[in-house]
Amino acid sequence: MTQKIALVTGASSGIGRATAELLAANGYYVFAMARRVERLEQIRSDCIEPIPLDVTDEKAIALAIEHIILTKGRIDVLVNNAGFGQLGVIECVSMEAAHYQFEVNVFGYARFMHAVLPQMRKQKSGCIVNISSILGKIALPGFGWYAASKHAIEALSESLRGEVKALGIDVVVIAPGLIKTEFAAKQFELLKTISHPLAYQKIIAGLYKLLAGEPTAPGPEIIARAVLSAVTKSIPPVRHALPWDSKTAVIARWLLGGRLFAWAVRQQMRV
Ligand code: NDP
Repeated sequence: MTQKIALVTGASSGIGRATAELLAANGYYVFAMARRVERLEQIRSDCIEPIPLDVTDEKAIALAIEHIILTKGRIDVLVNNAGFGQLGVIECVSMEAAHYQFEVNVFGYARFMHAVLPQMRKQKSGCIVNISSILGKIALPGFGWYAASKHAIEALSESLRGEVKALGIDVVVIAPGLIKTEFAAKQFELLKTISHPLAYQKIIAGLYKLLAGEPTAPGPEIIARAVLSAVTKSIPPVRHALPWDSKTAVIARWLLGGRLFAWAVRQQMRV
């Protein structure tokens, strides 16, 4: 049987790293991508080949895909995962920072979808897994640009699913809730670079309250298992939200309606 070939972006830590390792442990040959070379080298093995790149670099992506097709001849799975969270209230996040959030979280995913689709169409098979977020369907104060980027991913995934289904290609959205990775710490580092007037200080304090559960949140393996399950199913899920917080937040928003949900969020943030 031909070995299946997977590409995982953001594989130097957290969800991407756990996914690359789990896919490799289950028979896939994995091309693991991110910027931090030394971190990628830690997971190099017979079945994991690191390719250092930045997802904003279109030329580097084209070269990587060329290398993969030349050496392996096929692409079965793309896991679009590389991303970060630009915290800060809408008024205070600069347009430059907002653009960069979209460059990585949205156009980074789009560049990879563009890059793998010609090969997947040729094969008449393939699975694209886009890692979204609990904030792909709801939005919270202080998370505006990040939530906007993940809403964009949900929309692109839904359109793409309809476009390529008949060509033998599946598109899956996985929407994690709070997961213990490097993500929250990086978010707070970025938040420190943004200057907020006193009027927003309660919201900023509320962000720390919202993410206070991160140290006891599930590890990235729970999402890696969901990815493996999706790419090995003959009929994969359209959208898999996990763990429980990701499922219940969307249901709560739907049941409560916009005004009551916003009130409940403000209570939790103590704003
Ligand atoms: P981590 O910060 O641990 O991992 C993020 C990964 O993205 C790293 O490997 C980083 O690698 C890579 N990355 C970031 N920017 C770039 C770039 N410009 N080019 C290439 N790679 C990049 O966070 P998570 O594992 O938690 O995040 C993974 C995904 O999960 C993200 O899309 C995030 O939005 C989503 N998510 C996470 C949640 C959580 O609670 N952790 C909740 C919901 C969604 P490097 O710096 O080496 O380039």
